[in-house]
Amino acid sequence: MDDGSTLPGASHLECTWTGETFESEALQGLSPVGKPLFARYDLAALRDRFTPESLEGRRPDLWRYEEVLPVRDRRYQVQLGEGWTPLVDAPRTAKRLGVRRLLVKNEGINPTGSFKDRGLALAVSRAWELGAEELALPSAGNAGSAASAYGAAAGLPVHVVVPQDTPAPILEEIRAFGSDLQLLDGLINDCGEVVKKGVEEKGWWPLSTLKEPYRVEGKKTMGYELFEQLGGRLPDAIVYPTGGGTGLIGMWKAFHEMEELGWIGSERPRMISVQSAGCAPMVRAWEEGAEEADLWENATTYASGLRVPGAVGDFLILRALRESGGGAVAVKDHVMAEWVAKLGADTGIFAAPEGGAVAAAVPPMMEQGIIDPDDEVVLFNTGSGLKYVGMTPVD
Ligand SMILES: *Cc1c(COP(=O)(O)O)cnc(C)c1O
Repeated sequence: MDDGSTLPGASHLECTWTGETFESEALQGLSPVGKPLFARYDLAALRDRFTPESLEGRRPDLWRYEEVLPVRDRRYQVQLGEGWTPLVDAPRTAKRLGVRRLLVKNEGINPTGSFKDRGLALAVSRAWELGAEELALPSAGNAGSAASAYGAAAGLPVHVVVPQDTPAPILEEIRAFGSDLQLLDGLINDCGEVVKKGVEEKGWWPLSTLKEPYRVEGKKTMGYELFEQLGGRLPDAIVYPTGGGTGLIGMWKAFHEMEELGWIGSERPRMISVQSAGCAPMVRAWEEGAEEADLWENATTYASGLRVPGAVGDFLILRALRESGGGAVAVKDHVMAEWVAKLGADTGIFAAPEGGAVAAAVPPMMEQGIIDPDDEVVLFNTGSGLKYVGMTPVD
């Protein structure tokens, strides 16, 4: 077993809006202008020793990338087997959709059944390392499970506030981890207000998406994994179900780091953002050519991970779509459900509605010329269908 030997960790934090830099060894939320902070690393110093070859034989979880993660002391790496999920070839779905090659990154097999485990593993580990004593977050559901699991593993209490119509399996899971669970008649934004109160009055440390710097660090490992699992290259297009956008923003960050490390050149996959027709603030902003997104009123969708009316990282999502030559598209709930069934029958993967959504997004993206028939496409199935049992499409 590893001792507590010291890892390089981050060199500093940087405001994604102003570029202003901040200390990385103290708990930090948003920057003073209310924008996300990114962890930065001394990549030039890592270039010679953190190479693709150096990863051979390392542990099959996201901690294999520990040199470009913020935790400094290995004793604070909270580990439940997160990450290093399979990239499954789906030739029958490729044929059905008319693309050369299609792969499914199956995030449903993470410890709590969604890719939220990646982000919360890092956020909880780092909050623990920096001295936080009580954690809290508003969640559409899966982040609440993940935060609760990692909080339990670290021995830290967690307060979770979720909409009252969150899928029952997720609620049971959160309770099983011993968290303080509050149900609210509202959406994730409203839940955020309750957490804010606890933060101000009781000193909870908040773990909201992109409002602390480290969830995105966990999510970025998906970008490193794609490179390794494709034998040292990136795909032509990545189709990603977007709520707060941490995964998309994280992968985009990973690609920049990989270029600085000398692993790749300036080439990038086209990034495609998929939302629900009942909650599509990013798609609307994309279609209007806007740089930020307005709040979506009356958000409804059974894909609870996509029921996010507004995202603090909106400008980062839209920038990645633009710089990559990608796109954005909204999918109706019942179409997601149809594709959950098609994907399941083709591959043996029981996808979350969000995974159905990304498959459903391929035909419109091909019509718009953003996905080409000759492309190698990666679909992100971000969660297990088991977490949504009993939920039905709202349209
Ligand atoms: C949270 C969630 C999403 C959205 O992820 P972001 O990175 O916040 O955009 C997609 N799918 C599932 C299953 C989720 O739980």
